[in-house]
Amino acid sequence: HIDNNIILYMEDVSVSFDGFKAINKLNLYIDRGELRCIIGPNGAGKSTMMDIITGKTRPDEGTVFLGRDHNLLQMSEAEIARAGIGRKFQKPTVFESLSVYDNLSLAIAGSKSVFGAYFGKWRKLTGEQDDFLDSVLDTIGLTHTRARMAGFLSHGQKQWLEIGMLLMQKPQLLLVDEPVAGMTHGEIERTAELLTGLAGQQAVVVVEHDMEFVRKIARQVTVLHQGSVLAEGTLAQVQADRQVIEVYLGG
Ligand code: ADP
Ligand code: MG
Repeated sequence: HIDNNIILYMEDVSVSFDGFKAINKLNLYIDRGELRCIIGPNGAGKSTMMDIITGKTRPDEGTVFLGRDHNLLQMSEAEIARAGIGRKFQKPTVFESLSVYDNLSLAIAGSKSVFGAYFGKWRKLTGEQDDFLDSVLDTIGLTHTRARMAGFLSHGQKQWLEIGMLLMQKPQLLLVDEPVAGMTHGEIERTAELLTGLAGQQAVVVVEHDMEFVRKIARQVTVLHQGSVLAEGTLAQVQADRQVIEVYLGG
Protein backbone atom coordinates (compact mmCIF):
# COMPACT_ATOMS: atom_id res chain seq x y z
CA HIS A 1 0.00 0.00 0.00
CA ILE A 2 0.98 3.65 -0.33
CA ASP A 3 3.59 4.68 2.21
CA ASN A 4 2.64 7.74 4.28
CA ASN A 5 5.91 9.39 3.25
CA ILE A 6 4.96 9.37 -0.41
CA ILE A 7 3.25 12.45 -1.83
CA LEU A 8 3.05 11.31 -5.46
CA TYR A 9 2.49 7.69 -6.39
CA MET A 10 2.43 6.67 -10.05
CA GLU A 11 2.44 3.02 -10.92
CA ASP A 12 2.23 1.15 -14.22
CA VAL A 13 1.00 4.24 -15.98
CA SER A 14 0.67 4.06 -19.76
CA VAL A 15 -0.83 6.31 -22.38
CA SER A 16 -0.89 6.02 -26.16
CA PHE A 17 -1.50 8.66 -28.80
CA ASP A 18 -2.72 7.07 -32.03
CA GLY A 19 -1.10 3.77 -31.12
CA PHE A 20 2.20 5.37 -30.05
CA LYS A 21 3.08 4.68 -26.41
CA ALA A 22 4.19 8.07 -25.08
CA ILE A 23 4.16 6.75 -21.51
CA ASN A 24 4.91 3.07 -21.03
CA LYS A 25 4.48 1.37 -17.63
CA LEU A 26 5.87 4.40 -15.82
CA ASN A 27 6.57 4.10 -12.09
CA LEU A 28 7.37 7.28 -10.18
CA TYR A 29 7.35 7.78 -6.42
CA ILE A 30 8.00 11.21 -4.92
CA ASP A 31 8.47 11.66 -1.18
CA ARG A 32 6.94 14.52 0.79
CA GLY A 33 9.18 17.57 0.62
CA GLU A 34 11.52 15.97 -1.88
CA LEU A 35 13.29 17.84 -4.69
CA ARG A 36 13.43 15.65 -7.79
CA CYS A 37 14.81 16.43 -11.23
CA ILE A 38 13.38 14.68 -14.26
CA ILE A 39 15.65 14.64 -17.28
CA GLY A 40 15.50 12.80 -20.59
CA PRO A 41 15.78 13.36 -24.32
CA ASN A 42 13.16 15.18 -26.35
CA GLY A 43 10.05 13.07 -26.73
CA ALA A 44 10.86 10.97 -23.63
CA GLY A 45 7.43 11.74 -22.19
CA LYS A 46 8.28 14.39 -19.59
CA SER A 47 5.51 16.83 -20.50
CA THR A 48 3.00 14.01 -20.95
CA MET A 49 3.90 12.77 -17.46
CA MET A 50 3.17 16.26 -16.05
CA ASP A 51 -0.09 16.35 -18.02
CA ILE A 52 -1.14 13.05 -16.44
CA ILE A 53 -0.34 14.26 -12.92
CA THR A 54 -2.38 17.43 -13.38
CA GLY A 55 -5.31 15.62 -15.01
CA LYS A 56 -4.90 17.23 -18.41
CA THR A 57 -4.20 13.85 -20.02
CA ARG A 58 -5.88 10.67 -18.84
CA PRO A 59 -3.76 7.50 -18.91
CA ASP A 60 -5.03 4.30 -20.52
CA GLU A 61 -4.00 2.36 -17.43
CA GLY A 62 -2.20 2.69 -14.15
CA THR A 63 -2.55 4.30 -10.74
CA VAL A 64 -1.90 7.92 -9.76
CA PHE A 65 -2.37 9.12 -6.18
CA LEU A 66 -1.59 12.33 -4.33
CA GLY A 67 -0.78 11.08 -0.85
CA ARG A 68 -2.93 8.18 0.26
CA ASP A 69 -6.27 9.85 -0.11
CA HIS A 70 -6.50 11.47 -3.52
CA ASN A 71 -7.00 9.18 -6.49
CA LEU A 72 -6.08 11.68 -9.18
CA LEU A 73 -7.60 9.59 -11.96
CA GLN A 74 -11.03 10.21 -10.47
CA MET A 75 -10.59 13.96 -10.12
CA SER A 76 -10.99 16.90 -12.49
CA GLU A 77 -8.08 19.24 -13.26
CA ALA A 78 -9.56 21.85 -10.93
CA GLU A 79 -10.01 19.32 -8.11
CA ILE A 80 -6.41 18.15 -8.54
CA ALA A 81 -5.16 21.75 -8.31
CA ARG A 82 -7.25 22.34 -5.18
CA ALA A 83 -5.98 19.11 -3.63
CA GLY A 84 -2.47 20.59 -3.65
CA ILE A 85 -0.71 20.28 -7.00
CA GLY A 86 0.64 23.45 -8.58
CA ARG A 87 2.12 23.45 -12.05
CA LYS A 88 4.36 26.06 -13.52
CA PHE A 89 4.65 26.15 -17.28
CA GLN A 90 7.68 27.46 -19.15
CA LYS A 91 6.03 30.70 -20.16
CA PRO A 92 5.00 32.80 -17.15
CA THR A 93 1.35 33.77 -17.04
CA VAL A 94 1.40 36.70 -14.66
CA PHE A 95 -1.01 39.57 -15.13
CA GLU A 96 1.32 42.20 -16.59
CA SER A 97 -0.84 45.22 -15.88
CA LEU A 98 -1.42 44.33 -12.23
CA SER A 99 1.02 44.92 -9.38
CA VAL A 100 3.11 42.11 -7.91
CA TYR A 101 0.97 42.35 -4.77
CA ASP A 102 -2.27 42.04 -6.74
CA ASN A 103 -0.96 39.07 -8.70
CA LEU A 104 -0.23 37.23 -5.45
CA SER A 105 -3.45 38.39 -3.87
CA LEU A 106 -5.49 37.07 -6.80
CA ALA A 107 -3.72 33.73 -6.54
CA ILE A 108 -4.89 33.26 -2.95
CA ALA A 109 -8.43 34.11 -3.89
CA GLY A 110 -8.23 30.92 -5.91
CA SER A 111 -9.93 32.20 -9.01
CA LYS A 112 -7.51 33.50 -11.58
CA SER A 113 -10.28 35.89 -12.53
CA VAL A 114 -8.47 38.96 -13.69
CA PHE A 115 -11.90 40.39 -14.35
CA GLY A 116 -12.62 41.06 -10.69
CA ALA A 117 -9.14 42.43 -10.20
CA TYR A 118 -9.51 45.13 -12.82
CA PHE A 119 -12.69 46.31 -11.18
CA GLY A 120 -11.20 46.23 -7.70
CA LYS A 121 -13.84 43.77 -6.65
CA TRP A 122 -11.83 40.89 -5.31
CA ARG A 123 -12.08 39.90 -1.72
CA LYS A 124 -9.76 41.85 0.53
CA LEU A 125 -7.19 39.62 2.21
CA THR A 126 -7.42 38.94 5.93
CA GLY A 127 -4.48 40.04 8.08
CA GLU A 128 -3.28 36.48 8.24
CA GLN A 129 -3.43 36.10 4.45
CA ASP A 130 -1.59 39.40 4.06
CA ASP A 131 1.18 38.16 6.38
CA PHE A 132 1.41 34.97 4.38
CA LEU A 133 1.62 36.98 1.16
CA ASP A 134 4.52 38.97 2.64
CA SER A 135 6.32 35.76 3.57
CA VAL A 136 5.86 34.49 -0.01
CA LEU A 137 7.22 37.81 -1.35
CA ASP A 138 10.25 37.33 0.85
CA THR A 139 10.70 33.71 -0.28
CA ILE A 140 10.69 34.65 -3.96
CA GLY A 141 12.92 37.68 -3.31
CA LEU A 142 10.45 40.24 -4.64
CA THR A 143 9.61 42.24 -1.51
CA HIS A 144 11.10 45.39 -3.05
CA THR A 145 8.85 45.00 -6.13
CA ARG A 146 5.59 44.67 -4.13
CA ALA A 147 3.91 47.69 -5.73
CA ARG A 148 5.53 47.39 -9.16
CA MET A 149 3.47 46.47 -12.19
CA ALA A 150 4.32 42.88 -13.10
CA GLY A 151 4.91 43.90 -16.72
CA PHE A 152 8.00 45.83 -15.60
CA LEU A 153 9.67 42.82 -13.96
CA SER A 154 12.62 41.08 -15.58
CA HIS A 155 12.10 37.66 -17.18
CA GLY A 156 13.52 35.94 -14.10
CA GLN A 157 11.42 37.99 -11.69
CA LYS A 158 8.26 37.05 -13.62
CA GLN A 159 9.17 33.39 -13.28
CA TRP A 160 9.64 33.80 -9.53
CA LEU A 161 6.38 35.72 -9.24
CA GLU A 162 4.59 32.86 -10.90
CA ILE A 163 6.15 30.42 -8.46
CA GLY A 164 4.93 32.76 -5.71
CA MET A 165 1.43 32.65 -7.15
CA LEU A 166 1.51 28.86 -6.89
CA LEU A 167 2.86 29.06 -3.32
CA MET A 168 -0.11 31.23 -2.32
CA GLN A 169 -2.23 28.11 -2.74
CA LYS A 170 -0.02 26.15 -0.33
CA PRO A 171 0.61 23.21 -2.65
CA GLN A 172 1.96 19.88 -1.45
CA LEU A 173 3.57 19.25 -4.81
CA LEU A 174 5.00 21.81 -7.22
CA LEU A 175 5.64 20.79 -10.83
CA VAL A 176 8.05 23.07 -12.64
CA ASP A 177 8.78 22.81 -16.36
CA GLU A 178 12.19 24.13 -17.50
CA PRO A 179 12.39 27.00 -15.01
CA VAL A 180 15.70 28.48 -16.17
CA ALA A 181 15.13 28.64 -19.93
CA GLY A 182 16.14 32.13 -21.06
CA MET A 183 17.54 33.20 -17.67
CA THR A 184 20.83 34.97 -17.00
CA HIS A 185 23.53 33.25 -14.92
CA GLY A 186 22.59 35.29 -11.88
CA GLU A 187 18.92 34.42 -12.29
CA ILE A 188 19.75 30.71 -12.67
CA GLU A 189 21.74 30.85 -9.43
CA ARG A 190 18.86 32.56 -7.63
CA THR A 191 16.33 30.04 -9.02
CA ALA A 192 18.46 27.15 -7.78
CA GLU A 193 18.44 28.69 -4.29
CA LEU A 194 14.71 29.32 -4.46
CA LEU A 195 13.74 25.78 -5.50
CA THR A 196 16.19 24.19 -3.07
CA GLY A 197 14.72 26.32 -0.29
CA LEU A 198 11.14 25.40 -1.23
CA ALA A 199 11.77 21.69 -0.99
CA GLY A 200 11.05 20.50 2.51
CA GLN A 201 7.95 22.70 2.71
CA GLN A 202 6.51 20.95 -0.35
CA ALA A 203 7.78 18.42 -2.84
CA VAL A 204 9.21 19.97 -6.00
CA VAL A 205 9.49 18.11 -9.30
CA VAL A 206 11.57 19.92 -11.91
CA VAL A 207 11.83 18.98 -15.57
CA GLU A 208 15.04 20.51 -16.86
CA HIS A 209 17.45 20.27 -19.79
CA ASP A 210 20.13 22.56 -18.42
CA MET A 211 22.56 20.08 -16.83
CA GLU A 212 24.48 22.82 -15.00
CA PHE A 213 21.24 23.72 -13.27
CA VAL A 214 20.46 20.08 -12.49
CA ARG A 215 23.93 19.79 -10.98
CA LYS A 216 23.22 22.81 -8.75
CA ILE A 217 19.93 21.61 -7.32
CA ALA A 218 19.58 17.89 -7.75
CA ARG A 219 19.58 15.39 -5.00
CA GLN A 220 17.63 12.68 -6.81
CA VAL A 221 17.42 12.45 -10.57
CA THR A 222 15.05 10.36 -12.69
CA VAL A 223 15.96 9.74 -16.32
CA LEU A 224 12.97 9.21 -18.57
CA HIS A 225 13.32 7.45 -21.91
CA GLN A 226 10.58 6.22 -24.25
CA GLY A 227 7.95 6.78 -21.61
CA SER A 228 9.55 4.83 -18.76
CA VAL A 229 12.21 5.26 -16.10
CA LEU A 230 15.64 4.43 -17.53
CA ALA A 231 17.65 5.23 -14.41
CA GLU A 232 17.23 6.80 -11.00
CA GLY A 233 19.69 8.01 -8.37
CA THR A 234 22.06 10.85 -7.71
CA LEU A 235 23.23 12.83 -10.75
CA ALA A 236 26.64 11.12 -10.50
CA GLN A 237 24.96 7.71 -10.42
CA VAL A 238 22.73 8.26 -13.43
CA GLN A 239 25.55 9.90 -15.41
CA ALA A 240 27.66 6.80 -14.88
CA ASP A 241 24.83 4.51 -15.99
CA ARG A 242 25.71 2.73 -19.24
CA GLN A 243 22.14 2.84 -20.60
CA VAL A 244 21.95 6.57 -19.90
CA ILE A 245 25.24 7.17 -21.67
CA GLU A 246 24.00 5.22 -24.68
CA VAL A 247 20.76 7.19 -24.88
CA TYR A 248 22.50 10.56 -24.56
CA LEU A 249 25.50 9.88 -26.72
CA GLY A 250 23.65 7.67 -29.18
CA GLY A 251 26.22 4.96 -28.42
P1 ADP B 1 9.07 15.47 -23.70
O1 ADP B 1 8.32 16.47 -22.90
O2 ADP B 1 9.88 14.54 -22.87
O3 ADP B 1 9.90 16.08 -24.79
P2 ADP B 1 6.42 14.69 -24.58
O4 ADP B 1 5.75 14.20 -23.37
O5 ADP B 1 6.07 16.05 -25.05
O6 ADP B 1 8.00 14.52 -24.45
O7 ADP B 1 6.09 13.70 -25.79
C1 ADP B 1 6.30 12.30 -25.73
C2 ADP B 1 5.91 11.69 -27.05
O8 ADP B 1 4.49 11.70 -27.18
C3 ADP B 1 6.45 12.43 -28.25
O9 ADP B 1 6.80 11.48 -29.25
C4 ADP B 1 5.28 13.29 -28.70
O10 ADP B 1 5.35 13.54 -30.09
C5 ADP B 1 4.09 12.42 -28.33
N1 ADP B 1 2.90 13.22 -27.98
C6 ADP B 1 2.80 14.01 -26.89
N2 ADP B 1 1.58 14.56 -26.81
C7 ADP B 1 0.88 14.10 -27.88
C8 ADP B 1 -0.45 14.29 -28.38
N3 ADP B 1 -1.34 15.07 -27.75
N4 ADP B 1 -0.80 13.65 -29.54
C9 ADP B 1 0.08 12.87 -30.18
N5 ADP B 1 1.34 12.64 -29.76
C10 ADP B 1 1.75 13.24 -28.64
MG1 MG C 1 8.34 18.56 -22.96
